[in-house]
Amino acid sequence: MPVSTKPQASVAHRQWAKLPAELSPVPMAVRESLGPESVDFTSARLRMVQRLAASGVEHTRVLKVMNSVLRHQFVDSALAVQAYEDTSLPIGLGQTISKPSVVARMCELLLQSPAGKMGLGRILEIGTGCGYQAAVLSLMAKEVYTIERLRALHEKARVNLRPLRLANVHLILGDGMLGFEKGAPYAGIIAAAGGDSVPQAWCDQLAEGGRLVAPVMGPGQQQVLLVVDRSADGFQRTVLEHVHFVPLKSGLG
Ligand code: SAH
Repeated sequence: MPVSTKPQASVAHRQWAKLPAELSPVPMAVRESLGPESVDFTSARLRMVQRLAASGVEHTRVLKVMNSVLRHQFVDSALAVQAYEDTSLPIGLGQTISKPSVVARMCELLLQSPAGKMGLGRILEIGTGCGYQAAVLSLMAKEVYTIERLRALHEKARVNLRPLRLANVHLILGDGMLGFEKGAPYAGIIAAAGGDSVPQAWCDQLAEGGRLVAPVMGPGQQQVLLVVDRSADGFQRTVLEHVHFVPLKSGLG
């Protein structure tokens, strides 16, 4: 008898594969606050979520949130048709919005930490960019502090986020290499730009039980995703897969 070598689809994948677009479980309140779509990207977005589930994203919360935030509203209208492909897209000033799979991966890593399992409290994001990941995080955490060094992008994020009226997102113009002391300690710190190492300030501002997820330069000058977990015993570092993020730079641009 032939034996199928096809891997078993995850539970999340099976659940999302069945959902027709109109039944996607987006909370009505969230949908209303996100405003009407001028072009209907509902099915493109649902297909993105189905691909995320098929590729191993298991948290229903992450999948729901990725289905709720209208990524095409964060990019230039000429790029909107590509917004639900798994690709990073330019947002101006040589910066990019991260790929949906990377955003989902980082969110899932935060939710898997001890602090994440208790319900995420305060999160610090380094590199606001266009504000997309901040919007995603805002639907998963209590408070989101997001810091950007380029004024034009800080302003762009403000414009993009304004209609969403996400009262728990705090936009800061500043050098994220210093973290943001006023919001500390954080249950999670997420960096959307990668440096040679993780600044000490980020570790100092991480709460016990909290997790930091950041790209850093690994061996052979290749960026890797680094997870730093803080516990009562200290810090534990785990190196994950190769990634491609824009560089972390110091000072205001
Ligand atoms: N999360 C963003 C991705 C933005 S790309 C989004 O959803 O769009 C990374 C961003 O990090 C860029 O906008 C870049 O200007 C910013 N950045 C780089 N170094 C920084 C620093 N030291 N402090 C704050 N922002 C920084």
